[in-house]
Amino acid sequence: MSERNRIIVTGGAGFVGSHLCDRLLEGGHTVVCVDNFHTGRRENVDHLLDHSNFEIVEHDVAVPFYLDADKVYNLACPASPEHYQDDPIRTMKTSVFGAFNVLDLAKRSGSRILQASTSEVYGDPIEHPQHESYNGNVNPIGPRACYDEGKRCAETLFFDFHRQHGIEIKVARIFNTYGPRMQPNDGRVVSNFIVQALCGRPITIYGEGAQTRSFCYVDDLVSGLVALMDSPSDLHGPFNLGNPGEFTVRELAELVIDLTGTSSEIVYCPLPADDPRQRRPNIDHATSELGWKPEVCLRDGLVRTISYFDALLKAGTHEPDAAVQTSHASAFNGERYKRRVIKETGAVEEAAPIGK
Ligand code: NAD
Ligand code: UDP
Repeated sequence: MSERNRIIVTGGAGFVGSHLCDRLLEGGHTVVCVDNFHTGRRENVDHLLDHSNFEIVEHDVAVPFYLDADKVYNLACPASPEHYQDDPIRTMKTSVFGAFNVLDLAKRSGSRILQASTSEVYGDPIEHPQHESYNGNVNPIGPRACYDEGKRCAETLFFDFHRQHGIEIKVARIFNTYGPRMQPNDGRVVSNFIVQALCGRPITIYGEGAQTRSFCYVDDLVSGLVALMDSPSDLHGPFNLGNPGEFTVRELAELVIDLTGTSSEIVYCPLPADDPRQRRPNIDHATSELGWKPEVCLRDGLVRTISYFDALLKAGTHEPDAAVQTSHASAFNGERYKRRVIKETGAVEEAAPIGK
């Protein structure tokens, strides 16, 4: 039986974070979800509210905070290009100030800390597939830079805190992940194509659809994150976590059309600036060091995801075109939430410890 920990998950109300909270609670741990509900949804964690080992703290990680913890997973950051480009300065603050604040928390509480980094650190990669030793090809001034460079800077901070302060760090470079609890209006390719197919709307391929991505089912990713967090203390990464199956965007569209049986047509739209042309992780490092590899193939993962969106859309609780939740007030208008708001004023040293 592994030890029971008190674990912070920043971004725990988001798509990946909510699945991670589920998994950690199943493992008997106490979970504190820290989220400002920028792109997360209360529905993602509704089922956890009555769990005695689960708590939500509404907080923006760009503002210093302190909670006691044994482990911290830092997932707080919008992941969809549409949302992280909507307010690029805020994205950069979340990535960089957020990383600094969680690292400072880890330093003070003596906790182990994992960063949810991204394949975006490779930019539009010239090396293919991407190995962790590849330093990437990122445009530092383009529209994706707020996210790419923000995540690169966060990795730098993680390794500098490790070298300078001896913090136990883990860095995961996550490749395109999909599954239930993505938002219908998330804007990423898998959710867009599925929702378009289910609603009988045109399927929007950007560019010619020849660009490739590797799609990882969320359960596999969560297993990889937990394996990395629980790995020996001398393993810091970075580790690529993704499914090495590589598909063109056009192949993905055809698969979604096939699996949903939709009569939607494909339409071709302009390719966004700096859209990476190819992506495939080399996961040898994660497989040999963590004993991890993905189990769910794209077809099976899509079937599960389609079934999720089908139920969601049929329930009529979600407008596919609704704006992303940005209001804290409306995110928390249910009194069922264990809500604790941290004062947003004090410097790190002055911030009062809460929790325990
Ligand atoms: P998501 O947008 O669904 O979740 C992000 C969560 O972080 C949301 O709940 C949001 O409200 C919260 N958040 C955003 N800014 C915050 C802030 N300043 N303070 C507190 N909370 C904040 O995205 P996701 O797909 O679940 O991604 C989770 C993490 O994994 C992100 O860090 C993302 O960069 C990384 N990642 C995801 C993918 C993917 O394909 N899903 C790929 C690479 C990296
Ligand atoms: N894409 C697309 N149609 C959409 C949404 C995205 O063709 O409706 C493309 C996008 O241009 C990119 C790929 O699909 O080439 C993956 O996009 P996503 O937003 O999922 O994430 P990325 O991997 O680019 O961060």
